[in-house]
Amino acid sequence: MVKFSKITPPAEGEIIEVSKKTGKIQVPDNPIIPVIEGDGVGRDIMKATRPVINAAVQKAFGGKRRIVWFDVYAGEKAQAKYGELLPQDTLKAIKHYIVALKGPLTTPIGGGFRSLNVSLRQLLNLYACVRPVRYFEGVPSPVKHPERMNIIIFRENTEDVYAGIEWSKGSKEARKIISWLNKSMKTKIRSDSGIGIKPISVTGTKRLVRKAIKHAIENNRKSVTLVHKGNIMKYTEGAFREWGYDLALKEFRDKVVTEDELGKKYNWQVPEGKIVIKDRIADSMLQQVLTRADEYEVVATPNLNGDYLSDACAAQIGGLGMAPGANIGDYVALFEATHGTAPKYTDKDMINPSSVILSGCMMLEYLGWKEAAELIYKGIQETIRQKRVTYDLERLMEGATKVKTSEYGAAIIENMG
Ligand code: NAP
Repeated sequence: MVKFSKITPPAEGEIIEVSKKTGKIQVPDNPIIPVIEGDGVGRDIMKATRPVINAAVQKAFGGKRRIVWFDVYAGEKAQAKYGELLPQDTLKAIKHYIVALKGPLTTPIGGGFRSLNVSLRQLLNLYACVRPVRYFEGVPSPVKHPERMNIIIFRENTEDVYAGIEWSKGSKEARKIISWLNKSMKTKIRSDSGIGIKPISVTGTKRLVRKAIKHAIENNRKSVTLVHKGNIMKYTEGAFREWGYDLALKEFRDKVVTEDELGKKYNWQVPEGKIVIKDRIADSMLQQVLTRADEYEVVATPNLNGDYLSDACAAQIGGLGMAPGANIGDYVALFEATHGTAPKYTDKDMINPSSVILSGCMMLEYLGWKEAAELIYKGIQETIRQKRVTYDLERLMEGATKVKTSEYGAAIIENMG
């Protein structure tokens, strides 16, 4: 039995386990789910979110299932309770209970602090950042056909230029590396350069692409696109593309067809039940999501491309307040608001809670409780159709009624049908 120093697990509820036989998670009817409320507007959005999730589960399963929430701490609240920002109790709880929900956390400035979010991802080995981008009719959008966008992005979370391996201009390390490269590899790097390293591995690539293809299979998606900049960075981004195709053909041969095969063997007609594996260069993909978003369904991409692409796609469907996300490892999954702590709105009951509510929907889908997620999607869609929205959307919508965070949550529950 796992022991905590300053938190007590709920008396009721059961843990989610991983089946040794199938390798899949086994979800009891009353799973214990740790929740990190978060800093700043975390309290506002979580106050609205938990009732929405509880109501959807209650309605979908007639009281047979329910989530038992377990409050755990990170950020400013952890600092106050434990004297540290990311206590062991919290890491232990997420590992033990497998699925968790999280609000935004402040990244303290200066003092050598690493972002808490990055620490959580690294310490829990959450290697896939998963961002679905789905449009709700009526949400203000800068594009003509936002309804064409229904993409889920799998962004590699641990490698690439985000690995944090870098040295500033003039540092001993930078000088040493530049001198070694220029002498031994005959490169011509200027001595006044900063240096950053971009590692991309077979391991990191394959486990990410595997997750993306499995998602496509389990959710009847028609294609998986590998997005890379391999025309320029051949041995990192180009290799990501190559290893991605290798994995698809080796592990999923009977379920996939490559775009190349499609042209050569099938006259561009996708064989029944097959998923098309294709690839696009990152810069071209940023155009394609604007001009022909409906040609893409699941995307797998290295860290930096994924960062740009997720925000570019989110902008089309209503921005950060509407974009959910999760960081997922082999089993452990942390569902979270994608926006920050928006400190100026703290405790004002103003902010849009959709990001974390939709992350809650992803969580319900991960648990296999799709019926509850569907009710929330329905509730959000209807609330937006009625133009009862928070300030961020109200200022962009004609004839809309501005509602508080809590009122918006209540309207979603009312509109679940
Ligand atoms: P932010 O908290 O995301 O807020 C920036 C602006 O985005 C807000 O002022 C607001 O714009 C809009 N916004 C964000 N969330 C919204 C929502 N739910 N509904 C409506 N509008 C929303 O970004 P930041 O000010 O750069 O960062 C503040 C702190 O959060 C920093 O400490 C940062 O490190 C941290 N952060 C944490 C996470 C995370 O935990 N995942 C992510 C990003 C940043 P308007 O003022 O125009 O309405």
